[in-house]
Amino acid sequence: MEDMNVLTECLDSMKIPYTDLQLEQLYRYYELLIEKNKVMNLTAITDFDEVMIKHFADSISLLRYTPLRDKRILDLGTGAGFPGVPLKIFCPDSEFILVDSINKKLDFVADVCEELGLNDISVCHSRAEDLAHKSDFREQFDFVVSRAVANLATLSELTLGFIKKGGYFVSYKSVAAEEEIEQAKNAIRLMGGKVQKTESFNLPGSDLERTLIFIKKGVNTPKQYPRKAGTPAKTPL
Ligand code: SAH
Repeated sequence: MEDMNVLTECLDSMKIPYTDLQLEQLYRYYELLIEKNKVMNLTAITDFDEVMIKHFADSISLLRYTPLRDKRILDLGTGAGFPGVPLKIFCPDSEFILVDSINKKLDFVADVCEELGLNDISVCHSRAEDLAHKSDFREQFDFVVSRAVANLATLSELTLGFIKKGGYFVSYKSVAAEEEIEQAKNAIRLMGGKVQKTESFNLPGSDLERTLIFIKKGVNTPKQYPRKAGTPAKTPL
C-alpha cells in the first residue's frame, strides 16, 4: 500500500479528523478509479498523490466549514463520484443521492459504493432539469453540492429546486468566483436563493485554489424552474 502522507497532512492542516477505515476506503476508491479509467474516461488526474489531493481532499474540504451531520445531500453531476463519495465516507450518518445524466459513470459509482460498504447512498440517472420537478426530489434536500458541472447561473437553476427552505447549495468553484456570482445574481434570486458567503483557500499540498460558494435557499422555487433540459445551459437566467 502506497503511503497516504500527502493526504493525511492535507487533512491535518484542514483540521479534518480521519480514521483508518476512511483512509482504507479512499485507497480502495483510488484503485477502482484507476482500473476503470483504463476503459472509460473518468479522470484526467491519475497520479496517486494528485488524486489524493485534487479529488479526495478537495471533495472533503467542505467539512472545514460545515459538519454535514444527519443531512440529506444531493450531488449534482457527480461523474466518477466527486464530491459525493468522499463526503459520504467522511459523513457516514448523512444520506447521499448522486445524480448524473451519464449512466455508465453511475454504474462505476454504484460499484464503488458497494465495494466500500457504504450505506444510505444511491445513484440516480437523470438530468437535473427533469428530476427537480419530481415531488420526491423537489425541495427535499438540506444540501446540494456540485463540482465542475456548469457556470454558476446555470447551476443555480439546476440545483436550487431540490433544496428545502433554509438549506444550502454549495458550489465548488475556483478563482473567478466573484465574477461568476455577479453573472448569476439574477438566476439565484429567481430561484429563491441568496449568496450567504464564500470561502477561498489554497488546497494544502497543491497549487489548487478553491472557492466554495454557499447559497442559502430562502423561499420556494417558482414552479416553472428549472426550464426544460438544455435551456439553463444555453440561455442562463
Ligand atoms: N463532479 C465531477 C464530474 C464533473 S464532469 C467532478 O468534479 O469530477 C460534469 C458531470 O456533470 C458529467 O458527468 C455530466 O454528465 C454531468 N451533468 C452535466 N449536466 C448535467 C445535468 N443537467 N443533469 C445531470 N448531470 C449533468
